[in-house]
Amino acid sequence: MDSAEVINEVAGQVAVCQKCNLHLSRKNAVPGEGPAQVELMFIGEGPGFYENEQGRPFVGQAGKFLDELLASAGVTRAEVFITNVVKCRPPGNRDPLPDELSACRGYLERQIEALNPTVIVTLGRYSMAHFLPNAKISSAHGKATWVNGRLVVAMYHPAAALHQPSLKETVLADFSHLPEFIQQAKKVQQVRTSGKPSAAEPAAAPAPEPAQQSLLDLFGAPAPAPEAPPSPQPDDGDDDSTPVQLSLF
Ligand code: SF4
Repeated sequence: MDSAEVINEVAGQVAVCQKCNLHLSRKNAVPGEGPAQVELMFIGEGPGFYENEQGRPFVGQAGKFLDELLASAGVTRAEVFITNVVKCRPPGNRDPLPDELSACRGYLERQIEALNPTVIVTLGRYSMAHFLPNAKISSAHGKATWVNGRLVVAMYHPAAALHQPSLKETVLADFSHLPEFIQQAKKVQQVRTSGKPSAAEPAAAPAPEPAQQSLLDLFGAPAPAPEAPPSPQPDDGDDDSTPVQLSLF
């Protein structure tokens, strides 16, 4: 089965999925969309009001801002795959519950495996926690980390900047580094494929990769200090017609 077939199969399964209670209140499941061959994969938290209506990811105000952010990084939506950690809308845009995240996890894992993106961008705390369970977004945003062989870049959810305008410049600055991360990830992948050193890697070939490895580690800079585990925080899902309280940090 090729990647397009896997993506289509997952979309079909998500459309009729009843693995968690979110299926009870959804209008449309939102499996995600984009090409089956991508360099960039974006993972948000869950569908909001408009996404639930249309069955498409990031089509509300947060989606419009995401399009602006992509454009600022020289990327178009047509070039990337966009999905969420849960494929059905949590009622009232509440946070997804642990059992819902767990039930939906397999769909996301299959999408990642099929797409094999060069860089994964997480949007918000819950998608970041899928890869970096102990990270805190206030310090992890804008940074790239190797997780099981994939470069994961943590970003604030675009809705956070809509609800807190002072974050907009931070989000824009974080997105501006995406082309650089893609290029660096490609260089590291080339080194791994060829087994030969290049200008992009340290003098010695990279050591066996731990579960999580900072991009800066690979390029010789000191690793950041470990962070305290995140504390419970309010909702930061996609935008909705109903105002929601958002705090991502
Ligand atoms: S959120 Fe995921 S696991 Fe739950 S019903 Fe929807 S597709 Fe199934």
